[in-house]
Amino acid sequence: MPISMIQSRFFSLAKLSEGVFAAIAKKGAGAMSNAGIIDLGNEVVVFDTFTTPSAARDLRKAAEDLTQKEIKYVFNSHFHGDHTFGNQIFQDATIISTPATRDLHRKNNRIEDRDKELEETKQYLRQLKERAKTESDPVLLSSLDTQLKEMSKVCEAISDLEIVLPNLTFEEKLVIHGTDRTAEFYCFGGGHTESDAFLYIPEEKIAFMGDLVLENLHPPLFHSQEFKDNLLKVRQLDIERIVPGHGNIVTKNQIDVMIAYLTHLNEKVTRSIEKGMTLEELLVSEISADYAAWTGIDGYKRNLNAVYQEQNR
Ligand SMILES: [Zn+2]
Repeated sequence: MPISMIQSRFFSLAKLSEGVFAAIAKKGAGAMSNAGIIDLGNEVVVFDTFTTPSAARDLRKAAEDLTQKEIKYVFNSHFHGDHTFGNQIFQDATIISTPATRDLHRKNNRIEDRDKELEETKQYLRQLKERAKTESDPVLLSSLDTQLKEMSKVCEAISDLEIVLPNLTFEEKLVIHGTDRTAEFYCFGGGHTESDAFLYIPEEKIAFMGDLVLENLHPPLFHSQEFKDNLLKVRQLDIERIVPGHGNIVTKNQIDVMIAYLTHLNEKVTRSIEKGMTLEELLVSEISADYAAWTGIDGYKRNLNAVYQEQNR
């Protein structure tokens, strides 16, 4: 089926090449992160599965309509729910991740008490609404609004949500040799989480980066130095276009933008410590103009705090 005939309220499709598609999440709709559909010729790989089963159902349908082929492999870049909660729609496929991601997914995304989970999510939604009443910064208000909409969709999905774990793991590199193209899965370490993997298509020089590369968003940090080391290795690959975990399609230059951001945070924290500033003073300091438009609730503050803790460990 031609791409123009496929519509979803959760994402828009972009054709990167004959057989390589990005599913770019529509803001606030319940997909939350970007996904990918890669036709290897004889079989199909789906990259990440969105944050709700409903969005994942549309992703599966789009992949089948576009390729008319079996979805044989599904990839989880990292354990975060916005990239893995759609796994249940692909239970008949082989779901791939690193062993660490599988483990984190199993430990952190457990649903032990559905009612409690639902109540906590509702409580979080109420907090977001209250917060929005007291804020005036347009970037923050827009982040709060998007988060409120996305999490409302997650809240609606909780009653049907099933946690499905990856069933094939790899440590550093896994290659699937298709008849038309190759899918190379890599993990050079973590930074955003303890383990962040990505998918590289050498034929087209396209990378689906998960949350190692974002567009216009403060990345949540697991460890900033590890993040930077990871990206320095990614940068050595011959990449032209990148599908980021969140935001619009970018070029390889976005890796440098991410590295510069992580460097900026570290330098700013180091300078503040040298000047004898307290953590409180650091956290209320003004955001650099380069990142003022980046979204994410308290993203800058949260990351300055994370880097401060790293440097004082
Ligand atoms: Zn993430």
